[in-house]
Amino acid sequence: HPNLLTNNDLLKNKAYVGGEWIANARDGKTFEVTNPSTGHVIATLPDLGVEDTRAAIDSAYVAQIAWAKRTGKDRADILRKWHDLMVENADDLAAILCAEMGKPLSEAKGEILYGASYIEWFAEEAKRIYGDLIPGHQPDKRIMVMRQPVGVVASITPWNFPNAMIARKVAPALAVGCAFVAKPAAETPLSALAMAALAEQAGLPKGLFNVITSSASADIGQEFCSNNKVRKLTFTGSTNVGRILMRQAADQVMKTSMELGGNAPFIVFDDADIDAAVEGAMISKFRNNGQTCVCANRIYVQAGVYDIFAEKLTAAVNAITVGDGFGKAVTAGPLIDAKAVNKVQDHIADATSKGAQIKTGGKAHRLGGTFFEPTVLTGVTREMKIATDETFGPVAPLFKFETIDDVIAQANDTIFGLASYFYANDLSRVWKVAEALEYGMVGVNTGLISTEVAPFGGVKQSGQGREGSKYGTEDYLEMKYVCLGGI
Ligand code: ADP
Repeated sequence: HPNLLTNNDLLKNKAYVGGEWIANARDGKTFEVTNPSTGHVIATLPDLGVEDTRAAIDSAYVAQIAWAKRTGKDRADILRKWHDLMVENADDLAAILCAEMGKPLSEAKGEILYGASYIEWFAEEAKRIYGDLIPGHQPDKRIMVMRQPVGVVASITPWNFPNAMIARKVAPALAVGCAFVAKPAAETPLSALAMAALAEQAGLPKGLFNVITSSASADIGQEFCSNNKVRKLTFTGSTNVGRILMRQAADQVMKTSMELGGNAPFIVFDDADIDAAVEGAMISKFRNNGQTCVCANRIYVQAGVYDIFAEKLTAAVNAITVGDGFGKAVTAGPLIDAKAVNKVQDHIADATSKGAQIKTGGKAHRLGGTFFEPTVLTGVTREMKIATDETFGPVAPLFKFETIDDVIAQANDTIFGLASYFYANDLSRVWKVAEALEYGMVGVNTGLISTEVAPFGGVKQSGQGREGSKYGTEDYLEMKYVCLGGI
C-alpha cells in the first residue's frame, strides 16, 4: 500500500549499513517481503550475508568510540528528535507495519507510539548514567565506580512487534553510548528500515544504527557471536533459538540479554469482577491475534465462576472482526504464516481429541489465507499440548480449578516465567498469589502490563535481562571500579 503513505521516503528497499543505503548484497541475492493479509509481495530487499554484516560491525565499532565521548545531553537531543519524528510519522509507520505484519492499523499505530515511548524514556535516562563513590578500605584510598557503555551491540528480533522490539533495545543502547547493529526478522524488515530513515533525519551519526536485511538468520547470528568487535547480543524470540545463541555467545563470553518464550497463566478467582476479567482476558489473549510472548496461554477459572466466565468470554470473542488490517472495523488480522496456522490447528485438534469442547471458532476463517477464527475451548486439562506449549494464536483454553494452592502449582508448572495475570479482590489472596507466581511480570486485575516505565523481562527459561524502566540501561553498561591510592 505505498500509495497510502504521505512520506514515501520511509518505504525503503535497501539495507542501512554505516550510514549508507545499500541496494545490493555483495553476491546479488535478494528476498521478498509479503503482506500476510493478501499474500502480495510488497518489497524485494538485498539479502545481506556475513561480509556485509562485518562491514556494519566495523562501522559501528568506529562510530561508537566517538559517540561514547559525547555528553549524555548530546545523545539525548538526537534521541528526542528521533522520537518526535516517529510520532510525527506514526500514521505512515503504522501503514508499513500493517502491510508487512498484518496487525490492524489502529493496533499498528499503538505499537509505533509504544516503540517511540522507549526512545523518549531513554533519551531522558541518557543524562542519568550515574556512578558511585565508596568509602575507601584504607586511609589513603578512594574508591570510585563508573558506568561505561559495553560497546557494539548486535540485536536479533522477531516479526510480531517489528518496531517496538527494536526500539526497546536500540534506545537504551544508544542512550548510554553504545552503537547498534540490528538484524530484524526477514518477514518484517521494512519497519526497521523506516526507523533508520528517521534516525538519519534526526541527525544520528553514521554507523551507530545499522539494519542488516537478511534471510540468513543463522549465518548473521554466528557472525554476531564470533566477531570480537561485538560485545553484547540482545535477542527477542523463541527459547530454542535463544539457547542456540547463548551457546554461541559463550565462545567469547559475550554478554547477552534474552527475551524468550512465555506460557502465561491467566487466573480468575471466584471473588474477581468477572466483567473486568473478561475484558482483561480479551486484551491479554487476543492482542496481536494471540501472537505476543505475554499473551495469556492458559486461562484458569475457579469452579464457581467457570460457566459464567466462559459464557461472557465467548460473547466477547464472537464480537471480534477478523480481516485485512487496513479494513475499518477490523480488530484481528491474519496469522503470520501457514506454519502458525498449523500450530493453532494442532493444539485445537489435540485438545478436542482429549475431551475439550469448542465454544466458538475452532477452524480456518472463511477469508482463507492465514486468517483463523478466534476460538474458545472449555474442559481443557493439563494433559493437553496447549497446557505446556505456547500457542501463539487466537485460542483461549479454559481450565477449571478448585483451590488457590492447586492453581499456583499448575501455573508454575512450566519451564517458562515471563508474564502472568490474575483477577481477585481479597487483599491477602492478591499478595499471596503475586508472591507465589514464578514469573518476571504479574498483572493483577489487568491484562495489559507493557509500558516503557516498568522492567519487562522473564525468569526461568523465558530469559534474562530487563527492558524499559530505570533498570533498562543496566543491560548496556559495564561497571568499572577505580581505586585511587597514595592520597
Ligand atoms: P519466532 O517464532 O518469533 O520467529 P524465532 O526464535 O524463530 O522466533 O525467531 C526470532 C528471530 O531469530 C528471527 O529474526 C529469526 O530470523 C531469528 N533466528 C532464527 N533462527 C536463528 C539462528 N539459528 N540464529 C540466529 N537467529 C535466528
